[in-house]
Amino acid sequence: MVFEDNLEFAQQLDQQDPLSNMRGEFHIPKIKGTEQDEIYFCGNSLGLQPKLTSQYLNDELNKWQKLGVKGHFDCEFPWMPYHEFLAEESAKLVGAKASEVVCMNSLTANLHFLMVSFYRPSNKKYKVLIEDHAFPSDHYAVESQVKFHGHDPADAMVLLKPREGETCLQLDDILATIDEHADELALIMLPGVQYYTGQVFDMQAITDAAQHHDIVVGFDLAHAAGNIEMQLHDWGVDFAAWCTYKYLNSGPGSVAGCFVHEKHHDNPDLPRFAGWWGHDKSTRFKMENQFMPIQSAEGWQLSNPPILSLAAIRASLDTIKQAGGISTLRNKSKQLTAYLRFLLQNRLANQVDIITPDEALSGSQLSICINSEDKHGKAVFDAIEAAGVTCDWREPNVIRVAPTPLYNSFADCIHFVDILEAAL
Ligand SMILES: *Cc1c(COP(=O)(O)O)cnc(C)c1O
Repeated sequence: MVFEDNLEFAQQLDQQDPLSNMRGEFHIPKIKGTEQDEIYFCGNSLGLQPKLTSQYLNDELNKWQKLGVKGHFDCEFPWMPYHEFLAEESAKLVGAKASEVVCMNSLTANLHFLMVSFYRPSNKKYKVLIEDHAFPSDHYAVESQVKFHGHDPADAMVLLKPREGETCLQLDDILATIDEHADELALIMLPGVQYYTGQVFDMQAITDAAQHHDIVVGFDLAHAAGNIEMQLHDWGVDFAAWCTYKYLNSGPGSVAGCFVHEKHHDNPDLPRFAGWWGHDKSTRFKMENQFMPIQSAEGWQLSNPPILSLAAIRASLDTIKQAGGISTLRNKSKQLTAYLRFLLQNRLANQVDIITPDEALSGSQLSICINSEDKHGKAVFDAIEAAGVTCDWREPNVIRVAPTPLYNSFADCIHFVDILEAAL
């Protein structure tokens, strides 16, 4: 499509947008002291609240008021199997079978629990491949697991670095590094979408390469879940984990998701840190000491989950379902982000660099570096925030903006670029 840089054109795209009505299903924050909507481009960090959320939370609070402990059983959406109500829609987001996903714990906790099962270093194969600049929590998690197994992180962590002068990793370099270290690698842990650059990783190619060399592969999907389409089952990914408060709009610190491929479900040799909620449902309440894992991703659960948080996830999943699912979101997202990219290049090509790779390798997010000589990126960021934009700043030098397909409009993109232009 040939884009135009004017508000009328943006509004026309909004009128043609089959998802434009979804904005009304969300609470949009207002600019301080006004009744005017913010330009909220921060759904990659904390997604906005769906209107269904308070209703679903209230349902659970009412249930607790009226039924007490009986809320576990005789009612609509009983708490005992509540996590099961999330499985089907969560699975669609990542391209999995319902039995392969479960919502539990938090993201970093899940990475640890999954590494207990899937990082199994031997004398020869004990290294982990991650990015040089992975999200710090992922780095800490891998580093501490490596140490826990008695290895020296300086030796046992293979760090992927971009080429000199580049910010994104090239697939060829990732595959070459896998080849080079094939005999030593026990695990590859990479993001689906990189948090700083917004780069989408070729999870299928990486998984193929890993499996060719008998290396376990797991993905952190914090910035991928609800953002791009995936086929974790078909690709044969071993495990994955994601948070639900970014593109999945389930509220600050909400419970995380995880994926375990079905090929691992009945493997009795896998070590795991167990808890009663992972135990076979038919005998869980016999209160015996013989642990029998559920033969699905649910077998990795530890505790009975926080229902209020799961209710918020259910509200979000139902909102996404109402919108037509992830492929519908992705279609709009591609167009919306392409439009924002066009506007930035059309008007500000000399003043900003977009470090996010082109469409095929990006999701909603664009990461913008300010390259104007007399302006520091952080000062520009402060100025656009003061003018009614919510986006985020990531050290050392990036403004991340994520127009999301559920509640952002093409007009938001014009207004954002107007404000950025003025700030520059
Ligand atoms: C957001 C994010 C996290 C956050 O971890 P929590 O355990 O949810 O606090 C971790 N890793 C990546 C890559 C992220 O983007």
